[in-house]
Amino acid sequence: DRSLAEVDPEVHAQVTRELDRQRRTLEMIASENVAPAAVMAAQGSVLTNKYAEGYPGRRYYGGCEHVDVVEQLAIDRVTDLFGAAHANVQPHSGAQANAAVMAALLRPGDTILGLALAHGGHLTHGMHLNFSGRLYDAVAYHVRPDDHRVDMDEVARLAREHRPAMIVAGWSAYPRQLDFAAFRAIADEVGAHLLVDMAHFAGLVAAGLHPSPVPHAHVVTSTTHKTLGGPRGGFVLTSDPAIAKKVNSAVFPGQQGGPLEHVIAAKAVAFGLAGTPAFRERQQRTLDGARLLAVRLIADGVGVVSGGTDVHLVLVDLRDSDLDGRQAEDRLHRVGVTVNRNAVPFDPRPPMVSSGVRIGTAALATRGFGADDFAEVADVIARALRPAVTEDELDLLADRVAVLADRHPLYPELPV
Ligand code: PLP
Repeated sequence: DRSLAEVDPEVHAQVTRELDRQRRTLEMIASENVAPAAVMAAQGSVLTNKYAEGYPGRRYYGGCEHVDVVEQLAIDRVTDLFGAAHANVQPHSGAQANAAVMAALLRPGDTILGLALAHGGHLTHGMHLNFSGRLYDAVAYHVRPDDHRVDMDEVARLAREHRPAMIVAGWSAYPRQLDFAAFRAIADEVGAHLLVDMAHFAGLVAAGLHPSPVPHAHVVTSTTHKTLGGPRGGFVLTSDPAIAKKVNSAVFPGQQGGPLEHVIAAKAVAFGLAGTPAFRERQQRTLDGARLLAVRLIADGVGVVSGGTDVHLVLVDLRDSDLDGRQAEDRLHRVGVTVNRNAVPFDPRPPMVSSGVRIGTAALATRGFGADDFAEVADVIARALRPAVTEDELDLLADRVAVLADRHPLYPELPV
């Protein structure tokens, strides 16, 4: 059989360059991680050939005996990991998991209440251009201006005023933990379903290092590729059999045809790994690294949203700085640290520029970074963000990044 390099040298060249980029740079985009080789092996397997519309034991295609076992493994492992009774592991992405849950539990025109995008919410929590803002009547809650924590008084007030059919708790850029019990109490008071989207912090929950939303939410959604460290994909958890049934039919036939059984196999591998002591230790390093970074930045006079972090990310607050989010992203890129600019709450700059950068530690922790490495990274970042940094200094910082990258080789088993 001919290799990718022989069949398609153009694509092969870019895959090779991407591997090289990942090896040479420090990945600190908070939504990214490094999938283990075993996860990639499952995803790159012959399971990609298989049609399997339906669910294990109830398929609309023949020849599903092996993918049935794989999908059931994924379901059993993820329900064990998070302590839920039911799971749907078929959503192709986190956005699709949210779309399926909303389709299952809402009618078009129903009201949903979610965290504002500009305050750390996700597109699928009611942003006006997203399906969630177009199909449903979206109302947004916010963080408080003084401490940047979600304003639960506002959540309660908006819930009483708008009587949403669903409250969405979860975030893409928020450095603190949410009070799931308080969200549930408000949802119960107004007769809403509570959806917790734990896409970002699922790995921390799996490791027991973050409160679990599962006992509080009617339904939980997640991605598999952020702190959880698996293949790109989504899943849904619930302990309510009636909700489980509605979610299953919203995913198939409601939204999709054939599930991606090769990705589901990779999810099964990731769920298995997430139950191990090594995974827990890695999530602890992720948290410790983020805390270290926040402390180091604050010591350098750099603003940090909410004054710190309880999770895997730090949101740098540049509202009072001459440096904007785009310039900060470019500076860090220049020294070999990949992050994304991000709006901060009450951001005076437009979203394409923004006054923040979101910096996450999950991918570096997976790569093996420990406390000393994170201290070095934090020092590099703090120095790179100094307003008066010179080009020569940036060159030296890039050299220090190269040393760190070499200290923790990425995918040593893959060809150069
Ligand atoms: N939910 C949250 C909270 C997210 O942060 C994201 C991704 O950034 C998603 C859902 C969507 O996931 P995906 O990109 O897989 O559609």
